[in-house]
Amino acid sequence: MALAAEVLEALRVDAATMLDETAALRHALHRVPEIGLDLPRTQRLVLDALEPLGLEVRTGTALSSVVAVLRGARPGPAVLLRGDMDALPVTEDTGEPFTSGHAGVMHACGHDQHVAGLVAAARLLAARRDEIAGSVVLMFQPGEEGLGGARLMIEEGVLDAAGERVVAAYGLHVMSSTLPAGVVASRPGTLMAASDTVHVTVHGRGGHGSKPYLALDPVPVAAEIVLALQTMVTRQLDVFDPVVVTVGRVEAGTKDNIIPEVAYLDATVRTFSEATHAAVPERIARVAHHVAAAHGLTATVDYQRGYPVTANDAHEVARAASLTRATFGADAWVDAAEPVPGAEDFSYVLQEVPGAFVFVGATPAGEDPATAPYNHSPQARFADDALAVGPALLAALALDRLAEG
Ligand SMILES: [Zn+2]
Repeated sequence: MALAAEVLEALRVDAATMLDETAALRHALHRVPEIGLDLPRTQRLVLDALEPLGLEVRTGTALSSVVAVLRGARPGPAVLLRGDMDALPVTEDTGEPFTSGHAGVMHACGHDQHVAGLVAAARLLAARRDEIAGSVVLMFQPGEEGLGGARLMIEEGVLDAAGERVVAAYGLHVMSSTLPAGVVASRPGTLMAASDTVHVTVHGRGGHGSKPYLALDPVPVAAEIVLALQTMVTRQLDVFDPVVVTVGRVEAGTKDNIIPEVAYLDATVRTFSEATHAAVPERIARVAHHVAAAHGLTATVDYQRGYPVTANDAHEVARAASLTRATFGADAWVDAAEPVPGAEDFSYVLQEVPGAFVFVGATPAGEDPATAPYNHSPQARFADDALAVGPALLAALALDRLAEG
């Protein structure tokens, strides 16, 4: 940690002083939630909010992203701060005064806080331009919810937006439960899972249910594959590097006395290390092919890679921990004991450059973090208090890394 205590205290005070303004932007974003890669109203609000700051701003081509570069007074390396912008197909049921005005769409994952918080971090940094040696790239990203917007922004050059590759990247996610408001948590190494989808088709030969010996029945073979996959998970993979395989959809047939031609299985696969993420597709295919072959049938396997493991750099997580403690007190940081089995596309950024992703508690006052509605719930509420913490921490991370040169 290179930053002086006075700098951290000033960031804390300034973020708290700006809180009403930051929350007002968050409420404006919350009223107009948008889904996917094209978020024109959200993008407009971001561009308007950044306008007075004198940044180099450009917008995306494949998606409605905003990339803003803040140049310090002196030359130095570049770092990246990221906020995702998209909402979810959820009908809001929070009773908030700034509730969604778009039917069936809600900022149920708190990304409105990420956008407003990144704008606030930009304001904190712009006010300190004279003390900055280097640049800060602000990455406003659509399409986090399943569409890989981060990867598209990498393809459009966000990591080199300052004219050189960023040396570190930081991002955060607010939580409507599990952590008290303003408490920050993370861990070195794997923070979140990789998430893949696999579609298996068992090809048999249809026939009369009374004469199965004249057909090739795909139904018992599909059932055997479901069980064999669970055996594969427990017998072949390291118990200390867990894997979740859940077959969430099984489909075959039309009627009790007709043997169908085909049976379908769809599964989600969660892994927590790159090694297991790499090894699992071949093992699932082997199980499906060989169980089918054992009964004289065939199987086809379509394995779709989702987001990779979100892996934190240990040094950068240590930086986030010390800055959080120094700015907000020892109790403001929690070492997360375990990864989270959800997935996050900031993982693509962390595959390219070292960095840290942290969770920031936003449990509303009066709610128990253990029971408050979780992210993605129609009742999920995110306390604005988190906006006094997240922006100050993001600004501190950027300043601290740049101070290292
Ligand atoms: Zn989210």
